[in-house]
Amino acid sequence: MAYQYDPASHCADEFINHQEILDTLAYAQEHKNDLDLIYSILDKCKPNLHPDKDHCAVIGHREASVLLACDDPKVNEEIFKLARAIKLAYYGNRIVLFAPLYLSNYCINGCLYCPYHAINKTIPRRKLTQDEIRDEVIALQDMGHKRLAIESGEDPRMSPIEYILDSIHTIYSVKHKNGAIRRVNVNIAATTVEEYRMLKEAEIGTYILFQETYHKENYLKLHPWGPKHDYNWHTEAMDRAFQGGIDDLGLGVLFGLDGYAYEFAGLLMHAEHLEAVNGVGPHTISVPRVKPADDIDPTEFDNSLSDEMFAKIIALIRIAVPYTGMIISTRESEAVRRRALELGISQISGASRTSVGGYTEEIRPTDTEQFDVSDQRTLDEVIRWLMECDHIPSFCTACYRAGRTGDRFMSFCKSGQILNYCHPNALMTLSEFLTDYASPATQEMGWKMVERELANIPDEQRRALCAERIELIRTGQGNDFRF
Ligand code: SAM
Repeated sequence: MAYQYDPASHCADEFINHQEILDTLAYAQEHKNDLDLIYSILDKCKPNLHPDKDHCAVIGHREASVLLACDDPKVNEEIFKLARAIKLAYYGNRIVLFAPLYLSNYCINGCLYCPYHAINKTIPRRKLTQDEIRDEVIALQDMGHKRLAIESGEDPRMSPIEYILDSIHTIYSVKHKNGAIRRVNVNIAATTVEEYRMLKEAEIGTYILFQETYHKENYLKLHPWGPKHDYNWHTEAMDRAFQGGIDDLGLGVLFGLDGYAYEFAGLLMHAEHLEAVNGVGPHTISVPRVKPADDIDPTEFDNSLSDEMFAKIIALIRIAVPYTGMIISTRESEAVRRRALELGISQISGASRTSVGGYTEEIRPTDTEQFDVSDQRTLDEVIRWLMECDHIPSFCTACYRAGRTGDRFMSFCKSGQILNYCHPNALMTLSEFLTDYASPATQEMGWKMVERELANIPDEQRRALCAERIELIRTGQGNDFRF
């Protein structure tokens, strides 16, 4: 059956339409040297806080694909410059930090790239008990983390929704010293509207689900059996999550599985689809790349992309969907992350352990790891490094707790209030980190940054109140303030 492209359809074959992607790639090849067109596309993306624009996307997947296909060095330089300017105009220099928490690696799927696949006999299987989750959360709080992304393999018997809900409840309930986990994002397999509703009621932040690949034929081969084999069930999951009441949705592609140009067009079409049917685009986009892992050799997937092309994709996502947060994990090295931060990333994980039960071990365990961690620094080191690169580390969770999710978050971003809200919230949460968890060297650098950045809060009253609150935090008289 031939499907027609329709961004507003609820059928995966129509909103991620294979023929539309092929036509897009052909259009991009045809126009990749058309400098007039290219500069007119770039002009549309200049950061002027598009107040008249209702859309999350400022250019469509076709225009963005032309920019991706163009290999003129001058144009590429323009693209990188523009991405930096948009990042600063829309997000400022804040970077939000989080850590993944692996609950269980039991899995009934056959994903060829993932070490959790059911027939991997060498990986030890483990599922955390609620007591073990408590211990992991205490270890994470003791580092200074406030936001987690929980991860689990798919296994309705070993990790049913009740187990996930209990775990979320346990995580929120742990209050150790001044620590607290204030936002739990969830990265579990595609599920039903009812189960998404339960997750919403458990007060999750973002529901994250990576598409892995948008190329259906390849998807079916890479997921040869198990519930994840069902491409449409997986691809339409975000629509069901929204129906279940979750309006902060996180997209992602596992780069390396299929051609990057195909994935890039598919990813933007998915964002356009969410906008078309929900009136709000994705809250975040993640950019993982396939990494070595137990029983997994990434060179078997012949689509790895260079660091340079990876950087360009990050820059173009930032340009095409300027209001969407972008996440890069510790799959990437310090050098790759440093560049990515400049080009548009707004959230990073720090001090991650991708093994089940990894945070309570003295030495980073590798036997149950989901993938090799390239960036192995401590959270304190990551925070200091961010500040050295002039980024403000933030542990802020205010928007979600104040009900600014979905379209309310988007209109908040577009109203340009970030400097009066997110910036002071970043400084207050950084102050908590400095007071409770930082090493002396990080404290020294951090307090200087806080003082310097306070001056950048435009509203005078807000600035004074923020300074007052920071003093309360610093002297141990209060915490968890937010605007
Ligand atoms: N089981 C859930 C699912 O199927 O969506 C959720 C999470 S899984 C623990 C998290 C993500 O890790 C996957 O969606 C996949 O993109 C990524 N991943 C799996 N194997 C990987 C590898 N070898 N290198 C990098 N990322 C990998």
